[in-house]
Order: sequence, then structure tokens, then C-alpha cells
Amino acid sequence: MRFCLTLYFLLLFFSANAQTKMGKLEQKFVARGLVDVQKLDPTLQVELKYSTTDNFVKEDVYGDLERAYLQPMAAQKLVKANQLLQKINPNYHLLIYDAARPRSVTIIFWNRMSHLPYNRREDFVADPKQGSIHNFGCAVDLTIANQNNEPLDMGTIFDFFGQQAEPRREAQMRKERRLTEQHLTNRRLLRKVMIEAGFTSIQTEWWHYNAMPRAKAKAKYGFIE
Ligand SMILES: [Zn+2]
Repeated sequence: MRFCLTLYFLLLFFSANAQTKMGKLEQKFVARGLVDVQKLDPTLQVELKYSTTDNFVKEDVYGDLERAYLQPMAAQKLVKANQLLQKINPNYHLLIYDAARPRSVTIIFWNRMSHLPYNRREDFVADPKQGSIHNFGCAVDLTIANQNNEPLDMGTIFDFFGQQAEPRREAQMRKERRLTEQHLTNRRLLRKVMIEAGFTSIQTEWWHYNAMPRAKAKAKYGFIE
């Protein structure tokens, strides 16, 4: 009995310790029922661009958050997409640049665009009033990487603000030689596995995929603030 109690308190101590090691953002995600995608599939790789200074605001807005969280339904789809990809090419895996994103970060992005007229800001970032689908834990930004975790060349970097990033302009960009056939092949592979797994793509960013439409995600899950 005494041994059991000691074991119980030891377990309690270590689990409390693990909790305190988890950053505030991560604790918030866990409390909202989101899941760490790498716990479902360790072959998924994660490099949260907003947790580095290599992003369009040139600032680490995520602090100690290093892991990608999604609603369980979205995470399952992502695992499926990664499996489909590895069936096509076992040397490839999905590399996640962003997943669940609190609305507080969307507000930071929105305010950084204050030099633009209100109706133009939405060309670059989501209006926090409406929210980005990332704010509900139902969107993911990602690319394909090879066995050395090097991203395939998609023709632009992540968060590139320009026409070459837009799937709706791919044919035109190819014609104008601003994208190569290899860029399009790489993008088509990403689209194929993501769409087969149940995501939808958008017309303006090759890296962004939704697991659920915005209105449905908002009604079902609500904002992660
Ligand atoms: Zn996105």
C-alpha cells in the first residue's frame, strides 16, 4: 500500500513537472482538445516559421511553441496525407510550417499591415474579426521535404506575397517562365495528397490547406484566443 502511494505521488510529481514544462500556448491548445500532430505520426516534420524570425514580420511571435497542434479531425487527415505521400515516394514527408494559431497572433499580423488600406490588408492576412481557419485549429501550412528534411522547390518561399505563390495563376506564371515545370510538379504532388486526404486548397497560397470551411469550424470549435 505504502509503495503504491509513493508511486502515485511520484507519478503526480512528474506529470505536474511535464505540465509546467509546456509553454502557455501549448497548454491552451491542449486544454482546447487539440492534438500534437507528431504524436500521431512521428514522420511528420515541424518547423513553425512563426516561432523563428524567418517570417514576414521578422519576429518570433510564438515564443516557446515549437510543436504543431490541430483539431483531432484535421490531424487525422494530415496523417492520412503523409501516408499517401510516402506511398508515392518513401523518401518524402510533409513538413509543417504552421498549424493552430491563436487569434492574438492574427491580430499582431493584422496590425503590421496597418500601412495598407483596410480592404487591401485581407490580401495578405486574415481579418481577426472573421478569423483565419488557423484560429480554429483547422488549417495547416506545409510543404514536402526529402529524406534530408530539405523542402522541395515550390517556386517561392512560404508566405511569399506575390503572384508566383498563387495556385490560380500557375498556368500564367509557367507561360511567363516565372515558375518551372518542376515547381508545378512539386505543387501538384502536395495538392494531390492533401485533397485525397480530405483537405481543400485555396487559390492564393500554395502552402495553405483547410480541413473544414471557416463558418463550420467557427461554429463547431470557436476561436482559440
Ligand atoms: Zn495558412
